[in-house]
Amino acid sequence: MPELFVDGVWEEASAGGRRAIHCPADGSLVGEVDEATAADTERAIAAAYRAFHEGPWPATSARERGDLLLRTADLLERDTETVALAESQDTGKRLVESRYDVADVVAVLRYYGRVAAEDAGRVVDTGNPDVVSRIVHEPVGVCGLIAPWNYPLLQASWKVAPCLAAGNTFVLKPSELTPHTSIHLMRLLAEAGLPAGVGNLVLGAGPDAGAPLATDPRVDLVSFTGGVQTGRGIMAAAAATVKRVALELGGKNPNIVFADADVDVALDYALTAVFLHSGQVCSAGARLLVEESLHDRLVDALVERAQMIRLGGPHDEKAETGALISSAHRDKVAAYVAAGVAEGAVLRCGGAAPDDPALADGFYYLPTVLDGCTSSMSVTQNESFGPVLTVETFNSEDEAVAIANDSTYGLAGAVWTQDAGKAQRVAARMRMGTVWINDYHPYVPQAEWGGYKQSGFGRELGEVGLAEYRETKHVWHNIRPSEQRWFDGASDGPDGAG
Ligand code: NAD
Repeated sequence: MPELFVDGVWEEASAGGRRAIHCPADGSLVGEVDEATAADTERAIAAAYRAFHEGPWPATSARERGDLLLRTADLLERDTETVALAESQDTGKRLVESRYDVADVVAVLRYYGRVAAEDAGRVVDTGNPDVVSRIVHEPVGVCGLIAPWNYPLLQASWKVAPCLAAGNTFVLKPSELTPHTSIHLMRLLAEAGLPAGVGNLVLGAGPDAGAPLATDPRVDLVSFTGGVQTGRGIMAAAAATVKRVALELGGKNPNIVFADADVDVALDYALTAVFLHSGQVCSAGARLLVEESLHDRLVDALVERAQMIRLGGPHDEKAETGALISSAHRDKVAAYVAAGVAEGAVLRCGGAAPDDPALADGFYYLPTVLDGCTSSMSVTQNESFGPVLTVETFNSEDEAVAIANDSTYGLAGAVWTQDAGKAQRVAARMRMGTVWINDYHPYVPQAEWGGYKQSGFGRELGEVGLAEYRETKHVWHNIRPSEQRWFDGASDGPDGAG
């Protein structure tokens, strides 16, 4: 079956391109999918443009659109096992994690299914009884949605759900490495009754299949999740047609542990913070800042536990984390660790691929701890997007905050202390879009997600996530129009005319 979805029809790539997808956990062939060219993406944009400008979708009631998302959520729940398996095969992550991801996507679809109809705009009090003034929400138009490979379906859903709830049409381009769950999502949207052209799917490499989404004048908004470098290029390309741009980029997230924290709990969470999904998480707590007096106790225990983490493929129920996405990515992580060691970081554990023959065909990398780091090192500044923890120490609240904020990134971070006042003071000063206190990683669809600084701008999730996909129009209705004679000097002219 062809895998591009354009104008309600499953199509092959026009130039006949195909891409083989391999499972990172064991290198096995998952399948082949169509590989779109820019021309395919332009056809998909044309379909989304027609559906927006000529079709009924933007004018459907918000409740109708919400119901479609709720039906899609039910269908996805029905297909949980199939979709979770597909996600694990594409990404190499454990099946149990993919099941959580699917449940999260169901929650996101239900959240936007419900909130779609809640906010119908507002009436403005102008002080003039002869005027009815209202603020109405309208969709932005055609949206280009570009997603990464680490949470393929989840990241796509954070875009697709609010985009549809607001009445837009879209072209989705998932990562070329992880297409299968996006294909499934499109099937479910179609099964739930999405009209032709409203949602379109193109697969393929960013510079070919993705680039037109940032340059084509028919696209009104581009929402991108991925690396900073790619994000800069998208933003620059979108500037030519002044598109709305939302960027969710990388992170190098500080996990601050004060000496008065509950150390055993902080230790458990520090491990999950950085080694979940082998560190391929934008909000990974990859930068441990520990109060100097606690350093030896915490870091010794952490190194011991990191060495016990069991690596394994999707079906290994005892595995605690999985493989990296590709051999090329593993090489990048290895080069990053080597650069850290060359800069003076102390390799406490990991720093290599495992020697277990059972893992030899997958792209695994051992959980790695680099101790003795400082903010001036490249390893504390750059995102590895792998299972690598850097450790720095501090001696005061001010110093902890200064080190945490000494970064071009500002996506997320955490602070661990049993002193509630200190926790609040530090959290308030951390320049990041999400700060956890005595916790790490949880999120809910109701709360906004996004970064400060070069971690991007624009917000996903929550009501603001929906607002990103809405235009706001002021409708001013003079219900008692009468002659206006300011041209002959009888009046000062319309009030406040801009
Ligand atoms: P990437 O930047 O390599 O690719 C992301 C997407 O952009 C892919 O679909 C890719 O094909 C596409 N792309 C690449 N070049 C393009 C171009 N010229 N035009 C249009 N599209 C193009 O990122 P990745 O390696 O897939 O993902 C990892 C990065 O994503 C990490 O930096 C991670 O921190 C970040 N991320 C951020 C968040 C967040 O919420 N802030 C969430 C997940 C991942």
